[in-house]
Amino acid sequence: MGEDLLRRHRAVLPSWLALYYDEPIEIVSGRGRRVTDSAGRTYLDFFAGILTNAIGYDIAEISDAVRAQVDTGVLHTSTLYLIRKQVELAERIAELSGIAGAKVFFTNSGTEANETAIMLATQYRRSNQILALRNSYHGRAFATIGITGNRGWSASSLSPVKVSYVHGGYRYRDAFRGLSDPDYIRACADDLREVLLTTTSGDVAALVAEPIQGVGGFNVPPDGLFAAFKEVLDEYGILLISDEVQTGWGRTGEHFWGIGAHGVTPDAMTFAKGLGNGLAIGGVVARAELMDSITANSISTFGGNPVATAGAKATLDYLLDHDLQGNAAKLGDRLLTGLRQLGERLDVIGDVRGKGLMIGVELVGPGGAPNPAAATAALEETRERGLLVGKGGLHNNVLRLAPPMTLTDAEASEALDILAASLDAVNSRHAR
Ligand code: PMP
Repeated sequence: MGEDLLRRHRAVLPSWLALYYDEPIEIVSGRGRRVTDSAGRTYLDFFAGILTNAIGYDIAEISDAVRAQVDTGVLHTSTLYLIRKQVELAERIAELSGIAGAKVFFTNSGTEANETAIMLATQYRRSNQILALRNSYHGRAFATIGITGNRGWSASSLSPVKVSYVHGGYRYRDAFRGLSDPDYIRACADDLREVLLTTTSGDVAALVAEPIQGVGGFNVPPDGLFAAFKEVLDEYGILLISDEVQTGWGRTGEHFWGIGAHGVTPDAMTFAKGLGNGLAIGGVVARAELMDSITANSISTFGGNPVATAGAKATLDYLLDHDLQGNAAKLGDRLLTGLRQLGERLDVIGDVRGKGLMIGVELVGPGGAPNPAAATAALEETRERGLLVGKGGLHNNVLRLAPPMTLTDAEASEALDILAASLDAVNSRHAR
């Protein structure tokens, strides 16, 4: 059965549509933090939190909200008509954004959200120059691929924007590695200044950045880095756009938005993935002046449709009512502590980093070199033991842990046990 589906998948879907595992899984149901595949095996899902299911599976409040909309007989008509839930959700997000007088535009994905933000910034600033972080990932359309600083994901060089990359992403291996937090921040701010002077004409539209790089391997910059960046940007009038597609909605524990760790308010934020807890929704929240800088008409046929906004509203209510941000902070600390202890014991673990429920474990080989084979093996080992984790990073050697934010203490312990056993096995075969 599974093999037949895999054969058909390969025959009819693009070769570049990556699949995890030697024998890819087909998930057929989910409850809480667990999913079951078509072979009847159940897994604790430590990656869904980033992919889509930010807060877990089969949450009655979300299913009921979606069902109530489905029961009206209208899945969607058009965004050319008023949609009450879209307005209500936009009001909530505008308020939560901390951006004074913010406006919201809904899309169906993170890519579209970033494309929209780039369009707004380039239009507003009358410039097609964008700054991005090295090792970034922002999506898979032309402008977003154009500002993605990771060759493995840059499918095309035909970008409509001119991009300049700055440091501040992959601290574990970049040119400023090993510096103290204040020195690292200073070096990155100096680098930004130099890039502006040497590779741009100064009238850059925006810096677009993930506060913690997701696809790039859950790279956590020192708190305050973006405040130092903003000081430089402000001298030139350059906008700051925070890509919160992975870091939004309290996942990082300490703050509701990833950029919150830096004590600055961006001009715009983009979001997607977890907001709909599985439904396709994304968007941009921006200063009204920036949002309204487009004069032509521009609609998204499905962006902000009633089903997606009903689910997103219920997701937002649930995560705020249950203080899932607090839970992410508490259980994130537990996981980080447990993994760091494991790291002291196992040579294959080069770095453990993260914030809240966004934790990266970088696997290394001899001399600390990136060890992608170990990461591939770790995915198989954890899957064998009933745990799904993600993989990423510039060298594809970082395990990415991002469980749903409803995670329990017992599940955190279970995952730590599985990770210890799996990485023990990997260590004996793949360590330095
Ligand atoms: N920005 C970030 C930070 C992301 O992680 C992603 C998805 N991996 C995107 C944008 C693009 O989102 P989507 O896949 O929904 O287009």
